[in-house]
Amino acid sequence: MSDAENAPSAPKDSREPPFRVEVRPGDEAVVEFDPTLTFECVDDCTWCCRHGVLLYEQDLLELAARESINQAVTRAHGRDFVRREPKARDDHVDEDGAACYFLGDDGLCALHDEHDWKPARCSVFPLSVHVEDGDIHVSIRDSAHEHCEGLDVSERRVVDNLDAFLPELLWELDDPTTEIEL
Ligand code: SF4
Ligand code: SF4
Repeated sequence: MSDAENAPSAPKDSREPPFRVEVRPGDEAVVEFDPTLTFECVDDCTWCCRHGVLLYEQDLLELAARESINQAVTRAHGRDFVRREPKARDDHVDEDGAACYFLGDDGLCALHDEHDWKPARCSVFPLSVHVEDGDIHVSIRDSAHEHCEGLDVSERRVVDNLDAFLPELLWELDDPTTEIEL
């Protein structure tokens, strides 16, 4: 038998979205994307770090425990966001030359690098969350299909790793929607 015949085949998944997944004990989500979709963040992409990040209340407290928030946080739409600032490198910025306050010139997140922590909304990307009839529904952001370089470039199926994308905190919020942006 050849090596190719011995190679494990990619796991099949006949589930048709929407379907329910237990993300962790007691936390269920309704999945609205193709269960065969895979994701692995691509080094040096940084597209999702060019925007302001919404901070849930718990995020703000956790950020304040790690960094000075006076410079890093701004208010908009009655909510707290990590602010954006002009950057030296022009390949890691949006059209206006700015990106997330914590995005370093090396293309890495200073929060993740120094504290092994990042705001909940940064974990959720490239997914999108909304609530329908009391259930958390999870889909892929329209903008991610266009800009996120990490979709379908690995064997890591999103549906098998939802606990990495959807922090427990989301189930504790009155409104965990990811539509509010800076
Ligand atoms: S906090 Fe870090 S991961 Fe989140 S957008 Fe900013 S640089 Fe990116
Ligand atoms: S847009 Fe996608 S690949 Fe690019 S940094 Fe964000 S999550 Fe990673």
